[in-house]
Parts: sequence; C-alpha cells; structure tokens
Amino acid sequence: AQLDTLDMIVLAVILLGTAAYFTKGTLWGIAKDPYAAAYADANGHKAGKTRNFLEKMEETGKNCIIFYGSQTGTAEDYASRLAKEGSSRFGLKTMIADLEDYDYENLDQFPDDKVAMFVLATYGEGEPTDNAVEFYEFIKGDDVQFSKSEEAEDPEKPLKSLKYVAFGLGNNTYEHYNVMVRNVDKYLIKFGAVRIGEAGEGDDGAGTMEEDFLAWKEPMWSHVAEKFNLEEREAVYDPVFAVTERDDLTADSATVYLGEPNKNHLEGQSKGPYNSHNPYIAPIAESDELFTSKDRNCLHLEVDISGSNLTYQTGDHIAVWPTNSGLEVDRFINIAGLEEKRHTVIGVKGLDATARVPFPTPTTYDTVVRYHMEICGAVSRQFLDTLSAFAPDEEAKAEMKKLGTDKDYFQQKVSSQYLNIAQALKMVSSKPWSAIPFSAFIEGLNKIQPRYYSISSSSQAQPKKVSITAVVEEIKTENGHVVKGVTTNYLLALKQKQHGISDPDPHGLNYAINGPRNKYDGIHIPVHIRHSNFKLPSDPSKPIIMIGPGTGVAPFRGFVQERAAQAAKGEKVGKTVLFFGCRKRDEDYIYQNDWKKWSEALGDNFVMHTAFSREQKEKVYVQHLLKKAATEINELLEKQKANFYVCGDAAVMARDVNNTLADIISEKRGVSKENAQDVVKGMRSRGIYQEDVW
Ligand code: FAD
Repeated sequence: AQLDTLDMIVLAVILLGTAAYFTKGTLWGIAKDPYAAAYADANGHKAGKTRNFLEKMEETGKNCIIFYGSQTGTAEDYASRLAKEGSSRFGLKTMIADLEDYDYENLDQFPDDKVAMFVLATYGEGEPTDNAVEFYEFIKGDDVQFSKSEEAEDPEKPLKSLKYVAFGLGNNTYEHYNVMVRNVDKYLIKFGAVRIGEAGEGDDGAGTMEEDFLAWKEPMWSHVAEKFNLEEREAVYDPVFAVTERDDLTADSATVYLGEPNKNHLEGQSKGPYNSHNPYIAPIAESDELFTSKDRNCLHLEVDISGSNLTYQTGDHIAVWPTNSGLEVDRFINIAGLEEKRHTVIGVKGLDATARVPFPTPTTYDTVVRYHMEICGAVSRQFLDTLSAFAPDEEAKAEMKKLGTDKDYFQQKVSSQYLNIAQALKMVSSKPWSAIPFSAFIEGLNKIQPRYYSISSSSQAQPKKVSITAVVEEIKTENGHVVKGVTTNYLLALKQKQHGISDPDPHGLNYAINGPRNKYDGIHIPVHIRHSNFKLPSDPSKPIIMIGPGTGVAPFRGFVQERAAQAAKGEKVGKTVLFFGCRKRDEDYIYQNDWKKWSEALGDNFVMHTAFSREQKEKVYVQHLLKKAATEINELLEKQKANFYVCGDAAVMARDVNNTLADIISEKRGVSKENAQDVVKGMRSRGIYQEDVW
C-alpha cells in the first residue's frame, strides 16, 4: 500500500532478542510490571482486557507497536524509549506491548502500512524471558496456525504484510548468545515477514548494551523513515504520564500506597497466590554472617515461607524485592527539587490509553523513589540527553548535551565512575533540577527489579524454610567513590537489626527497614519463588559433580543437604563431588560446619575439593582442581553417567570450567579438542551439564 501520511504508518517492530542481563553489574529480576496484574489468571492473563493487539491498535489509533520480552527491565526500557522516539521524532502513533499480554494468531493480518518492533532479551541457556514464553512457543511451533491460514493466497508466506524491526539483548559469555532475537527473526522471515534494517544485538557481556542499542537505532530509524515516508522533526519532550498533586489526600489516608505492592497488601490482607506480581512478606527466621573478614560480608538468611502457599524445589531461585536506601532516596529527592513535597500525594495517569503506570496510585513522590524506581543503577546516556532540556541553567544544559551525545566523554565522566542519576545530575549542577517533569523520571528510569538468589537449602530437608547465601555488593572506584548494592545492603541492614546491632552503616544508608506503614516490622522481606531447571537427578544413586566457587556454592549446599538427608534415611546415594573455591580458609570458606555434618551421613561418597586462591603465590581456582582430578571426573561421567553442575560467575569461571572439561574429555578419551567441545555441548543439550550462572 502507498503510505503517504504519517498516521497511516504503523511500525510493526519486532523486538526479538532482549538478551538477559546476567553479569554482576546486572540487575536481575522479573522485569514485568509486578504491580499491574493483581487480578491475573493462572497464566498471568488479565481479566477483561483484550488479547487482540490489532484491535487495540485500531481502537487507539496506533501505527507502530513495540513488543518486548524482558526479564530485568532493560528490554522494556528500550521498548519505551523506541516508542517515545518514534512519536516525538517521526510522529508515529506508538504503543508498547508486553509479549505476554497478547495472542499472535492474527499476526498474518498485520496491516502493511504499520510497523512492528521486537525488543527481545535472551535469558539463561538461550531461553525466552518469562513474559515471552507463550509467544516464542507459538512462533517456533511446528504447526503454526495463523488466523487466515485456511484462505491465505500464499500459504508459504502468511506474514508477508508484516514489516518489523528487531533488537536483541544478550550476553556473549553465554553459549546461546542472543538466540531469542536470532530465532524470532528467522521464524518471521520464514513466514514471509519483511525486516526493515538489520536485526540489532546488544551485548551485556562486553558491557556495551546501551551503546549497541544506540548504534543500532539510528540507522534503523532512517530505514523506517524511508520505508514509510516519514519526515523527521525536532523532537520535543512530551510526557507519557500526567502527575497530579492531590490536595484532598494525605500520606496517612488509607487509600494511599506507601510501598504496598498492590491492593491486597494495601488493604492489609496479604493474600496468595504469591508470585512475581504479588510478593509474600516473609519473616526472616535467622540471619548470619558467613565471612570472618572485616571488610567483606556474606549473608546466610533463612526465609520462613510457612505462612504462605509458596513451595520450592531444591535448585529453585528466590526473588527478593528491595527497597532503596534512605541515603539514595534523599539524594534523589534533593536534586530533583522535591524536598518540600516528598510526602505530597500524587495521582499518576497515562496520557495515552496504552500507557501503563508502573506502580499503584495514589502514592507519594517519596514512595515512588524509594520502592519503585531503580535510582541507583547505571545511567543511560540517552536519558541525560533528554534531561538536558530541563537543566537549571545554560551551562548545565550544554554539559548535559555533551554527556548525552559524546560517547567517550560520557564514559569518562559517568559510566566509569559508576554514577547513579542523582550523582550525575549533581555533578553537572548542584542547583535543584526542579524543571524535570516527574513523568520523565518514571519513563527514563527502570522499575526497581526483584533480585534472584539460588536457594541454598533442600526442599526435602526444610520445605518451609528457604536459605539464601548472598555476598554483600560494594564497589570502590579508583577515586574512592563507593557503590553499594541495593538489595544486599538492605539485607545486611535487616541482619544487623535482627542481631540488635546498631552499628550504623559506614555510608549511612539508613533503610526504611519497617517497610510501608511498619508492615515489614519484625524483620520481613517481600519475596517470591521462581522455579528453575537446575535440578538434582531424580535417582539419588546417580553420581553428581558440582562446581561452585564463592556464592556459586549456594545451590550445592541445598544439593548436599538433600543427599545427606536421603542417605540418613537409608537411601542409596551416589558419589557427591563438590569443587569449592574462595580466597582463604579462615576468611571466606563458607559452611565448613555444614559440610562436616553432612559428610558424616554421606561417608566416602562425599568428596570435597577446595581451592584457596590467596594462600599461596600461584592463584589456585576450581578449574585447576578439576584438571587435577581429570581421571576421576572422566570416569564418573563416562562410566557412571554422572551429572555435572556449574554455578556462580558467568563471565569467566563458567566458561573456563566448560573448556577445562572439554580438555579433560579430549585427553582422557583421546578425541580432538573440537570433538570434546561437541561432547560437552551434547551433555548440555541432554541436561547432564547444567548451569546456574549470573
Ligand atoms: P545492585 O544494586 O543490583 O548492583 C549490582 C551491580 O550493578 C554492582 O555491583 C555494579 O557492578 C552494578 N551497578 C550498580 N549501580 C551501578 C551504577 N550506578 N553504575 C554502574 N554500575 C552499577 N548473588 C548471590 O550473592 N548469591 C546467589 O545465590 C545468587 N544467585 C543468583 C541467581 C540468579 C539466577 C541470578 C540472576 C543472580 C544471582 N545472584 C546471586 C546475584 C543477585 O541477584 C544480585 O545481582 C546481587 O546480589 C547484587 O544485588 P544488589 O541489589 O545488592 O546489587
């Protein structure tokens, strides 16, 4: 069709491939709007809402839809940014769409004067993000049935009217780098859809996600503009949300959200089912410090889930919903010029029918900043550019423009210094930035994400208590700037409170530790459970080999606890081999008493190899010990069909272990290195080699 007016143009953006953010610097969690789905059915489908995206586009007059598959919020953020840009620069009528909210049989009726964009993260072992599972199952299905399949003129190319763009978020330290975007792109093309421009790929492993995205989107916009005859115009900031101050309510009013995750919680009846949309406010039954060194902390927590319907299986993950520290909330509130009205009640509404407010309202500025925005995370260069329009003076404006447009300058001044948004604004000008509309913050900052922890207990041994093993994050930059992990420092503060320690944090973080309206008093944290595929063999007599240095040992504590319990019950338990590594045995050799206790039940079947990297000149890591035990390892794998597990650092350790195992196989079985790598790949695809890495 001839496209002559902007309004006719729909950008069908197929955003495939938001690769999961798995590095240390990554914020982990279910990104999806945790607040919007209180009344979802078992599949997360919201009652009374259409699942027909074409109908929704039609109703709301959209010509560009941006689908996202997001786990940690980044893909969702990129989708919002594309939507904003499409509208402000090219006059597109854009909407963003959570992949989980719609059905896809009617993709074949996508009007050819509209455009779809797909922003897709890849998660874990090349998996779709939780919200993209159904879409992915559909599009890759052997027998995909589109709505008009029966009467299609060209049955081979049912999607030929679909024009799309695609960007993936991935991590090159994973074997299945950006497979979501690559596969979705492949399937769409197979069905005849037409991609506009290149499918972009962002690499979190290389730390270039944001720059990859920025570099991809400019040529993408040119192609889209050309294809649909769009004219670029001077981008003007248009708020997505209307924020209204409510004089009729105060922060004490019963209907005002002060951090409660949803209506049930506000009304004081925290009801299940508990899931990624509805956390359980769990008591922490016990908390302990695992390290003996003064300058580093590692926490062991026992989270009591007996008052909930939550269940877990050994190897699952628990998600913790964090709270920003008071120090950072104050810093943000001050620089944003919101000091005077931090407890003023606000209503927030989407100015467009398709815009979703990412937290419950009415609420207060303080609440939004404390509970809902990722105010401590890395700053986006594009966001600084957007905010330049609201700088307190011309000098600050010019500096913001420079930071927003000069990649190297931004790297030098902001990224390499690990500044958060308030620190970056303050660096540019310490005058209050009160001209920034609050909507810009809601749009430009990620929603705070729950963080995941590999459960370090066995569900057979303690079904109602979930153990967490978490190292407290703290980074010091060269010039002495300190970055404190959001969640782990909050957990540390809870532990201090439980132990009656008033030892204030050296950086004065001061958390609102009793939660909204004191609802988390008595040491509580909001949690949910995420099931994983990282599982013990169902037959306990099968041998297992586990590689888990540092906190990577977390799930293996659960595995060993489980096998010890089975052995104590008289079950036949196979060889249980654990490789653990840390700095020094008297500093960070965690769970020594547990290993001892459980080795009594398991006897000779429990073998532990320990690498202490800082006890001798040459650094010794688990990979070295693995190599040393080559004969035993190969024998266990080849003859006794052992399962092999790796947990912990994704960037270096997991890859090294993979390669070490391939070397062992090559040497012991007399096959080429290449073939040995294939053997390992085969083990992965058969579920014999399993990873739980971050
Ligand atoms: P965050 O605030 O999220 O900070 C984390 C990192 O982000 C920082 O160290 C820094 O590198 C970067 N960062 C933060 N702010 C900035 C900034 N302004 N600029 C630039 N960079 C910045 N951890 C465990 O300890 N034990 C486990 O068992 C465990 N299991 C996990 C299982 C899974 C499946 C996943 C995905 C992760 C797991 N993690 C585990 C990691 C955990 O989820 C958290 O990422 C970790 O605890 C840090 O969270 P935080 O909120 O304290 O730190």
